[in-house]
Amino acid sequence: MFYKVVENKLDLQAFKAKVKLEKKETKRIFETLRKQKPKQLDQQFHEAHEEAFSKIDCLSCGNCCKTAGPRLLQADIDRLAKNLRLKVGTFMDKYVRTDEDGDWVMKSLPCPFLGDDNYCSVYEARPKACRDYPHTDRNGMHQILKLTEKNVAYCPAVYEISRIIAKS
Ligand code: SF4
Ligand code: SF4
Repeated sequence: MFYKVVENKLDLQAFKAKVKLEKKETKRIFETLRKQKPKQLDQQFHEAHEEAFSKIDCLSCGNCCKTAGPRLLQADIDRLAKNLRLKVGTFMDKYVRTDEDGDWVMKSLPCPFLGDDNYCSVYEARPKACRDYPHTDRNGMHQILKLTEKNVAYCPAVYEISRIIAKS
């Protein structure tokens, strides 16, 4: 891996700089991926996902929780409020806002449930979007290639996955 792990933390500044430098390369990789057959594409992603996450520990990163945050469903809000022993209305007032697309998202970033050690304090009750991120082990990768290309800039694992596939 190109990016350094210092005191168990990924160097996210170095990651950001590298992603910026390789923007054209990322574009080229995803143009090639768009031409793949959907089933073959899923298989490539799933294998690369396993390999990337065998090398990257999310606890050394936490960048998705710091910079993106999840879209919240009603079920997520109900579960989180219950977990925190708050009324749904109180939870909404304290933690939730509506974004420009009309979706519910966290009021502030980094996510208020992210600790300094990158642990999630509501892990068992975390939103579905957090469980599924970065979506690279699901079927139908063809449908979310645009989003996945965007995620290269935020998620070192997605960056790594795209490079593993490009080399294969
Ligand atoms: S709820 Fe937990 S996993 Fe989801 S963004 Fe917040 S800290 Fe991260
Ligand atoms: S999913 Fe990606 S951005 Fe989130 S903590 Fe893991 S490596 Fe970092």
